[in-house]
Amino acid sequence: MKIDFQQLVAPYYKDATQKLQKLVQIPSVYDRKTKRSSMPFGEGVDKALQYVGAMAERDGFSVDYCDGYCTEISYGSGPVTVGIFAHLDVVPATGKWDYPPFGGEIDNEIMYGRGTSDDKGPGLAAYFALRALKDAGLIDNYKVVLVFGGNEETGAKDLDYYFQKLHKPAPTYGFTPDAEFPLIYGEKAIATYKHQGVAKLEPIISIEAGEAANLVIDEATAILKLDKNIEKALVKTAYKYEVSHSETETTLTFFGISAHGSMPELGENAGLKLFEFLGSYYGLDILSKLASLYQDSGGRNFDGYYNSSKLGETTYNVGLITYRNEVLSLTVNFRYPEITNIKEIIAKLNELDVLKVRLEGISPHLYFDPNSDFIKLLLSVYQQETGDYESKPKTIGGGTYAKSAPNTIAFGSAFPGRNDLIHAPNEHIHLEDYYKSMAIYAHAIYALGSEL
Ligand SMILES: [Zn+2]
Repeated sequence: MKIDFQQLVAPYYKDATQKLQKLVQIPSVYDRKTKRSSMPFGEGVDKALQYVGAMAERDGFSVDYCDGYCTEISYGSGPVTVGIFAHLDVVPATGKWDYPPFGGEIDNEIMYGRGTSDDKGPGLAAYFALRALKDAGLIDNYKVVLVFGGNEETGAKDLDYYFQKLHKPAPTYGFTPDAEFPLIYGEKAIATYKHQGVAKLEPIISIEAGEAANLVIDEATAILKLDKNIEKALVKTAYKYEVSHSETETTLTFFGISAHGSMPELGENAGLKLFEFLGSYYGLDILSKLASLYQDSGGRNFDGYYNSSKLGETTYNVGLITYRNEVLSLTVNFRYPEITNIKEIIAKLNELDVLKVRLEGISPHLYFDPNSDFIKLLLSVYQQETGDYESKPKTIGGGTYAKSAPNTIAFGSAFPGRNDLIHAPNEHIHLEDYYKSMAIYAHAIYALGSEL
């Protein structure tokens, strides 16, 4: 039977657009102040989880609210379960917006608002795909489970709870509409580790640098005992800096270029530059050593470099630096392919004559054989629905929602060449993309459930 999936989902466009506007109007940012046991991520997230649950109940699906961690929408039964994992929590709407961030306003066939593309739009596209299949009687002898999580942006405790606490079964085939088309079949492992120890760094009083472990430091500030001579040394360098003096102290700030922690080579780390300068200017060996250790972000300076044909190269991003009360610490976001042994890396670092290292957390790598039937089927669905046979599936530095669910890969829904400004002001979704992904997901769910 040949099914026209675009025709199948078209009658739902209007409803899907209105529902997405309503969902975007719920500011579902993690809120510590209103969280309680029945709403572990606060009121806003809970409202969004309730909203999709009530909608699904009205539409005839089974709904489980999972103690406020996720909303699970399911339908059908059979030997195969297709799982879809989207999330309704959003990052805060900071920065300057041209449209109300929680308005869902449509301008020129583009809907604006926090969550339109990450990840309420893609999640609802999957929902309406599911609804169109159900209404047409095309969920036959397989089960579909669509889970809307409430905590992707701040720790993925939602799917943790779903699988570990509630012991929900793993899907036979799963995808998450929280990344890009065509699909991502491999993601590096990510570890966070910390160098920390006592260091006497006279005349440095304190250092503060970085916003998060997974961002390249673009601003690093040191407070020093008053040192007016430092300017003479600074002007001879190529560093970008600002310096000011009070009666007793000198404040020195270095500037770099921010970049995502998975691609530190695209940025310039202001913290390492500060270390390099202060290390050589004051003869502080430990700072010079640390700066040169991470000068190559691949890890080549300490035998920490690995490169695999499947997942690519190691990357090391020093994302946070503090020096207070003679304690110096550096937090590193480390991404690595399947051939790297994290314990060996930590051991190698601990053999060096720098601050001791402690591992803080690991998220393992993810890899699917691009020649498996599962991956080939999803790619072919994408190609058939879009006519795009050029864009290639890829591997990335890691960290999509796919890692939080077993047997699950990232499949859409940002289209190649689009920049929907995820996590930035003016986040948006092209309605054309929203509708197109609905047809792709309907086709994918149907094919995974009944053809594999
Ligand atoms: Zn997301």
